[in-house]
Amino acid sequence: EPVVGVLALQGDVREHLAVLSALGAEAVPVRRPDELAAVDGLVLPGGESTTMTKLAVRTGLLEPLRDAVRGGLPAYGTCAGLVLLADRLIDAPPDQPTVGGLDVTVRRNAFGRQADSFESRIALDGVPGGPLSAVFIRAPWVEEAGPGVQVLGRVVGGSADGRIVAVRQGDVVATSFHPELTGDTRVHALFVEIVRHAVALGRAVADPSGAG
Ligand code: GLN
Repeated sequence: EPVVGVLALQGDVREHLAVLSALGAEAVPVRRPDELAAVDGLVLPGGESTTMTKLAVRTGLLEPLRDAVRGGLPAYGTCAGLVLLADRLIDAPPDQPTVGGLDVTVRRNAFGRQADSFESRIALDGVPGGPLSAVFIRAPWVEEAGPGVQVLGRVVGGSADGRIVAVRQGDVVATSFHPELTGDTRVHALFVEIVRHAVALGRAVADPSGAG
C-alpha cells in the first residue's frame, strides 16, 4: 500500500488520516524532514496557512517540502493546503512564503465575511458519480491558473459563480473546500490513485526489466 503522509503541524490532520486509512493507504502524520522523506504522497490539510507556514519555517520543514513537491512528490492540499501549494498569493501577509508547486494565484479568505462558511455542490472533472457536497470555511479560491493547470471544478451560482475551487497540475491536486469533513471519499480516492500510479511508475523506472 502507498504511504500517504498528512502534514501535521496544525489543522484538521486526523480527519485526513482517517479518510486515507479508510481508502487503504498507510496514513502517517508528517512533522519532520525524515518523516517527509518516507512518504509516497502528502496531504496538506485545512487550518490556518499563516500558522502552518510559521511552524514549517521553525521546524526546518519548509525547504524540504518545497524540494519534495517540486521534485514530483504527489500532493493534495485542502483549503489552507491550497494556499500552501500556490506559487502566488493575494491577501496574505507580505512575508508569507509558500511551499509552491502549483502555478496558480490564490486569494486567501476570498469568499468574504458574509460567506465565511457555506456548503455547495460542485462537479469535479475526473471524479465520477456526480457533484459532491463541498464545505467551504474561510476558503481561498484560485484567482488565476497557469497554462499547465487543469481546472477541475468551479462554483456554480451566487456571487462567486465561476470561481475556480479545484485544480490539478501533474500529480498535485488542490481544493478550496474540505472533502475530509463530509464523508465523501472520492477526491481522496483520486489522490490515492495518483500516488499509486506514481509509485508504480517509480518502480518501473528503478527496474526497467519489470522483474521487480
Ligand atoms: N483562511 C485559512 C487560510 O488562509 C484557510 C481556512 C481553512 O483551511 N479552512 O489559511
